[in-house]
Amino acid sequence: MTHISKNNARKLVLGAIASSVLSATMVSTASADVVASLRPLAFIAAGIADGVTETQVLLPDGASPHDYALKPSDLKKIKQADLFVWVGPEMEMFLQKPINTLAQNKRLALAEQPNIKALLMAENQEDEDSHSHTDEANHDSDHEHHHHGEYNMHIWLSPEIANFAAQDIYERLLVLYPDQKEKLDVNLRKFKENMTQNDEKIVNILEPAKNKGYFVFHDAYGYFEKHYQLAPLGHFTINPEIQPGAQKLHQIRTQLVEHKAKCVFAEPQFRPAVIESVARNTGVKMGTLDPLGSGLVIGPDSYMQFLTQLSEQYASCLN
Ligand SMILES: [Zn+2]
Repeated sequence: MTHISKNNARKLVLGAIASSVLSATMVSTASADVVASLRPLAFIAAGIADGVTETQVLLPDGASPHDYALKPSDLKKIKQADLFVWVGPEMEMFLQKPINTLAQNKRLALAEQPNIKALLMAENQEDEDSHSHTDEANHDSDHEHHHHGEYNMHIWLSPEIANFAAQDIYERLLVLYPDQKEKLDVNLRKFKENMTQNDEKIVNILEPAKNKGYFVFHDAYGYFEKHYQLAPLGHFTINPEIQPGAQKLHQIRTQLVEHKAKCVFAEPQFRPAVIESVARNTGVKMGTLDPLGSGLVIGPDSYMQFLTQLSEQYASCLN
């Protein structure tokens, strides 16, 4: 009995060492996933990574991609990511420094990918004129603002760009997890099929909203509006952190009084009193648009749910 148990004990010890090594490996892979800066990018990534690796989002709900202060835990998350997906330095300026420390194969700046770069929309030129003669404080801070650049960087609101982003993420994951090619292929195909179906659904939801005038709080929706042929009259501000100037507000108020708009849209993160005061006694409805899909759970179909939710937000105010 004793000689057997000696042998068995040896096996047990070896087994214990092997399993502790194994679980340590598992722990480290579990913490290194696909990490996306913004929730909608995590939605796209989750569609491709489903069943292959976990997808996490960096920014918490309610945080603005326009102005975020990274916490030490965020920096850790970035460092441990197998792949970090973001728009690029013209959008999430606060990420530029930590991302630059990552190896090239661990970071994916979507706006810099050739297939997406070709689809970038120019930033609204109207703002160039309006703040060339507003007060200096607004003028200066607008120029410091990250996405007051050549292009509109709210690329996650474009269904076309989302399909290309899915493709780019797929190609990166294929390099990282070559043995998962079959699963990744299926995920990419499913994503594109779902996008096509969802597109038809959204066209129907938005049909009654076509050609109805409205104002949005900030200039984020250009890609979505162009794709679905919506008719925005303008926006309050290009940077949600900066209050619109008096001239801009007057301009919007005039158009509301003249019944050119049916709706003004705030955002869950930004419900400034200026919107309410501008809309007061004009009979114009107030709605909310959520450009970040806050509250939506990250899963393989989340991106389609996000776009559907956004189209319903337009429709419920404009119909
Ligand atoms: Zn924005």
